Amino acid sequence: MIRKILRRAITKVFLRGEPARRKAETIPASRHGIRREQVSAGARRTCEALQKGGFKAYVVGGAVRDLIAGIPPKDYDIATDATPDQVRGLFRRSRIIGRRFQIVHVMQGAETLEVSTFRAAHDADTLKDEHGRVLRDNVWGSIEEDAARRDFTMNALYYDPTEELVLDFHRGVEDIQKKTLRMIGDPRARYREDPVRMLRAVRLSAKLGLRLDPKVQAPIRDMADLIENVPAARLFDEMLKLLFSGHAVECVKRLRDEGLHHGLLPMLDVILEQPLGEKFVMLSLANTDARIRADKSVSPGFLFATLLWHEVLASWEKRKQAGELAMPAMFAAMDEVLDQQAEKLAITKRIAADIKDIWSLQPRFDKRSGRMPARLVEQPRFRAAWDFLVLRTASGEAPTELADWWDEFAHASHERREAMLVPADKDGAPKKRRRRSRSRSDKAESNGETKVSGGDTP
Ligand code: ATP
Ligand code: MG
Repeated sequence: MIRKILRRAITKVFLRGEPARRKAETIPASRHGIRREQVSAGARRTCEALQKGGFKAYVVGGAVRDLIAGIPPKDYDIATDATPDQVRGLFRRSRIIGRRFQIVHVMQGAETLEVSTFRAAHDADTLKDEHGRVLRDNVWGSIEEDAARRDFTMNALYYDPTEELVLDFHRGVEDIQKKTLRMIGDPRARYREDPVRMLRAVRLSAKLGLRLDPKVQAPIRDMADLIENVPAARLFDEMLKLLFSGHAVECVKRLRDEGLHHGLLPMLDVILEQPLGEKFVMLSLANTDARIRADKSVSPGFLFATLLWHEVLASWEKRKQAGELAMPAMFAAMDEVLDQQAEKLAITKRIAADIKDIWSLQPRFDKRSGRMPARLVEQPRFRAAWDFLVLRTASGEAPTELADWWDEFAHASHERREAMLVPADKDGAPKKRRRRSRSRSDKAESNGETKVSGGDTP
């Protein structure tokens, strides 16, 4: 008992600046506007089963926010007072995931619902790093505590599909209606706990067309450097969310406005400051946004390949000028750029391999004689590499005619292909015997099968 009192007193001292736990306002359907049928069948079924089992269960977070804002949610999170083991006991098709903080994945038809137990507020025992970033927190808590731990007011809404009521702990519904992103608690303290919230603020504001509350916006510039302490794998996940939000162009613009792009993709700021680089990156992001909005597939490898391409070009050009041969120089440039990224952003091995495939095929588009073209179109990554070439032509880096040629060649009959081939002496490809006799500087000028950089690189 005494320990408990002492702990409460300590907690109080430590929690200054932590968001207050508030009682909820109960919002009826006439005000929140969500109809039960708008919620996915799987989410409804999961809540119902938990409630039948004697537990509380709500749809929570982004899905409720999006439904009120009139956007179809991309997935559903469920919050409950049942422990992971209790949840697991109720659903045959479910599994517990996560070690630090366990959640349960419940499968309903093709849907996977993420079910998490209400989490407790941070207290004096919460493990933090030297900058105040929360490292671990694992304790179950009340719904009020769970709400207070969430980042923005509009993310702390709990929808009960049975009663069709929204529990609103921090006036989130009003903020959605006012189109203002407001933080729960003191934004500075919340950014210190988790710097990724700065990125979330930008992403959500771009996605929902929100204005940042001045208190949310003001500290970002000063605190942007804290992003550097975020583990690389987490930052990579967050970057993927941002770039695949369907609003990547708007996100990147807002990141620049807030001074947040520096720490993210090292050198993204440099790239964006070069006219050709900016054009290329923006075209690629616009292309990704259009595909996402049309429900088409997108590949992280392709997108990262575009974001980093002008870095590769710059390094490649430098190497060639120093006398390295084209292809070895290309591979060295690719490794250099990816290694630099790895310090901050944990690009997974598989994605890195995709990126390299796309890059390394680019110089081969300049070879339009002999047997190479027929081999190139048989490559499994030809289509991705060709899409990449199209972007290069759209940004003015390569001639449009080149992408058209390859498109036609890929779809042509054997006879037509033969007729299309460029005579070897008019092709950009090097002659092996001649190359040996050329001087170093001569080599540097035209070396390899490359017009790729085309003098456009800075
Ligand atoms: P979207 O799914 O559209 O990307 P979201 O808000 O649902 O946006 P998720 O990452 O799915 O984002 O998170 C689900 C919920 O978890 C959020 O709505 C918020 O309540 C809470 N949450 C997520 N990240 C944080 C964070 N860094 N700090 C506090 N709460 C968070
Ligand atoms: Mg979500």
